[in-house]
Amino acid sequence: MKEFELIQHIFKASSMANIEGRRDILLGIGDDCAQVNVPADQTLVLSMDTLVEGRHFPYDADPSAIGYRAVASCVSDLAAMGARPSFFTLGLTLPHSDPQWLSAFAEGMAELAEPIGLLLVGGDTTRGPLTITLQVHGYVEAALIKTRSQAKLGDDIYVTGVLGDAAAAVPIVTDEIIVANDLYDYFYERYWRPTPRLIAGMALKRVAHAMMDISDGLAQDIQHILLASNVGAVLQGNQIPISDFLRDWQPDNALTIALTGGDDYELCFTAPKSTREEISLITQTLHLPCCRVGEVVETGFSIEGYAGDLEGWQHF
Ligand code: ADP
Ligand code: MG
Repeated sequence: MKEFELIQHIFKASSMANIEGRRDILLGIGDDCAQVNVPADQTLVLSMDTLVEGRHFPYDADPSAIGYRAVASCVSDLAAMGARPSFFTLGLTLPHSDPQWLSAFAEGMAELAEPIGLLLVGGDTTRGPLTITLQVHGYVEAALIKTRSQAKLGDDIYVTGVLGDAAAAVPIVTDEIIVANDLYDYFYERYWRPTPRLIAGMALKRVAHAMMDISDGLAQDIQHILLASNVGAVLQGNQIPISDFLRDWQPDNALTIALTGGDDYELCFTAPKSTREEISLITQTLHLPCCRVGEVVETGFSIEGYAGDLEGWQHF
């Protein structure tokens, strides 16, 4: 078997590439193209992410962790649209073909992709520095798509989960600093296994106005909503959700890290005040941690109770 044939074989044999029982996927890996029937009442949303070793994840990391996180970070964009994951393609650039590495990488991807119904339908493989490109696709009713431009004056602003852990984890997972075992285990998980908020996105799409996922830090990412919606925001510094681990470990920097750190892949959304009860019902039913952190105002951007520097954030 030739080198790249072996690679295709590994992916084709994976559970995440099995099209059995899928009415929407007519042809998967192995032909010139994949073939998809988008369900009649849905539109297709798609998003691409590229991850470069040494830049977007550390060198010589566990391949299954790389695979899991690649899918998680990409699928988070589907969650932010309120979409249901459907299929993805994979562009792989590899320094050399190492079947063991590839099998573990595929396993890590499948661990997340399979249970959420995200099917691998094709890709391309080339030689070069380790680079991973995923294009993920999802289905969502056209009328319910959540864009960044739908925030309205007076909306509440919410975020899911806790913020800052993934950014705080970077020096830990790269062994730049050594911490106690329990801290290491917690932050390792928080960096390598983010939880894309898919169920939350699908449940909130009927209530939320604007929605996006937080990949570069709340203070920066919320600017996208403000710009696209032509509004401003006031956040409450003391309402920003922070884990006990982060607060205990970095009491002085926790809020700054939570506001500016990336890679958490939580959702930020706005919703009219009249939906507060409905939102708390949804989040309680889903056991979804979700905090109201501020309000949409006419113009400007401020964080009450935060003494840090906000310059450079306001509309970039
Ligand atoms: P072609 O030369 O027609 O582009 P390839 O030889 O590149 O085909 O790929 C053969 C099959 O293997 C195609 O169905 C392609 O989608 C699949 N494939 C190649 N690389 C990957 C990959 N990294 N992940 C998933 N599928 C892949
Ligand atoms: Mg090809």
